[in-house]
Amino acid sequence: MIANEIKRKIRNIVGLENAIDSTEECFGYSYDSSFVPMSPENIPDLVVIPSTTEEISAVMAIANEYGIPVTPRGTASGRTGGSIPVCGGISLALHRMTKIIEFDEGNMMITVEAGVRTIDVYNFCAERGLFFPPDPASWKYATIGGNVGENAGGMRAVKYGVTSNYVMGLEVVLADGSIINTGGKAIKNVTGYNLTQLFTGSEGTLCVITKVLLRLIPMPKARNTLQLMFPSLDNACKTIHKMLISGVVPAAAELMDKISIQAVARHRKLEIDSSIEACVILEIDGETNADLEKQAKQIQAIANEFRVLEVRIAASQQEVDDIWSIRRGLSSAIGAMAPNRFGEDISVPRNAFPETVGLIRKIAEKYNLTIAVYGHAGDGNIHPSVLCDLSKPGEEQRVHDAVNEIFSAALSVGGTLSGEHGIGITKRPHITKALGEAGVNALQMVKQSFDPKGILNPNKIW
Ligand SMILES: Cc1cc2nc3c(=O)[nH]c(=O)nc-3n(C[C@H](O)[C@H](O)[C@H](O)COP(=O)(O)OP(=O)(O)OC[C@H]3O[C@@H](n4cnc5c(N)ncnc54)[C@H](O)[C@@H]3O)c2cc1C
Repeated sequence: MIANEIKRKIRNIVGLENAIDSTEECFGYSYDSSFVPMSPENIPDLVVIPSTTEEISAVMAIANEYGIPVTPRGTASGRTGGSIPVCGGISLALHRMTKIIEFDEGNMMITVEAGVRTIDVYNFCAERGLFFPPDPASWKYATIGGNVGENAGGMRAVKYGVTSNYVMGLEVVLADGSIINTGGKAIKNVTGYNLTQLFTGSEGTLCVITKVLLRLIPMPKARNTLQLMFPSLDNACKTIHKMLISGVVPAAAELMDKISIQAVARHRKLEIDSSIEACVILEIDGETNADLEKQAKQIQAIANEFRVLEVRIAASQQEVDDIWSIRRGLSSAIGAMAPNRFGEDISVPRNAFPETVGLIRKIAEKYNLTIAVYGHAGDGNIHPSVLCDLSKPGEEQRVHDAVNEIFSAALSVGGTLSGEHGIGITKRPHITKALGEAGVNALQMVKQSFDPKGILNPNKIW
């Protein structure tokens, strides 16, 4: 509960219409795109929608004074419950902060407010010949603040890295309302601790990100897409591995197992050859079409060594879009296969991809569950999707146990709990298994020093 007197103070800062407390409207801020079930307990007491850093600073100062929880929120496309206000209090929604503040062509950098959508940054830069590579599949609606909050990855991570590789500096509001700037345009910068990287991936628990300075790179002049079908998942993985060690680095290397392929086929009413066990979609890029042809030939030669069944090289933009729409629509195609689905996001060393998929297959058998596996094979980020029907007796427990074992499998091969979706609420129970008591304790000490009252996104990560 937030006292009316405090609400009045906040309304004086952001305006009456930007501090909402009706249950109906607040309900819309009580869930995200994770599998956390909706619950009245997660409805915030107040939704605050600021438009400036100064407003956020003033709101945080009040929240800190009265010990009110504050949960930063982009557009709630997060997959782990990060923006769910599990302790009530304030949902701080940044979707009005959508200004592109500066495009610095000379330094190849852009400064944007945290509420700008990822695709808008990409398009703005692309129109000016520069490239912002991180491309989470949710880029049409996710915000840059949310991308930094989760250190989002995307399909192009194999060649171009993830969000943190492009964040040069941040403007943030700390729990007590103070505003600080971290990093900057200097490429080499070792002045003090690297707070920019500490805040990147901090899931709204250390600060509110208000502005982001991003590094850009030249836009590749030529791009194409290939689709390869394999008789086994192992052969598909070996092809990607051999490509990478031979120096043929695709911009994206996405892999889908048979269950995923069947989901797409069903969704699109397509016939698929039954001998196909794995599909790989590659994006290649370079300076000229000749570069692309050379890469495509090298890839084809490597794939032939691993008995590729079919190679499709896109001959038009229409075909490129067609192939990528398969991957971009995969999540909904898989979701349509069962009443319930739990999508996970483990990350393993690249060469452990086939072994991990083998372990997931065994887990699926053990618990008599269907688990579709797809992911960013080029960087070892696997998204196992457990398909289930929670209305069946005992199913929920089996899914829970299976997911638990998937995390253990990832850790057993030297991997980790999350490649890009963060920990949020859904992976909290597993964090100690991944980091150990002392590791979690170190995180808690960092949290304590930035947010001694524990008001920023409480009950997340551990
Ligand atoms: C269909 C689908 C596909 C997806 N594909 C990908 C993918 O390919 N790669 C990937 O990495 N993710 C993916 N995601 C997950 C999600 O889109 C990303 O995590 C994204 O970065 C979240 O952005 P958001 O604006 O929605 O943030 P939210 O979900 O609103 O918040 C995410 C976290 O960041 C914090 N946060 C948000 N804004 C701020 C801020 N300004 N300051 C401080 N903390 C903040 C929140 O408190 C929360 O902890 C996908 C999600 C969906 C639904």
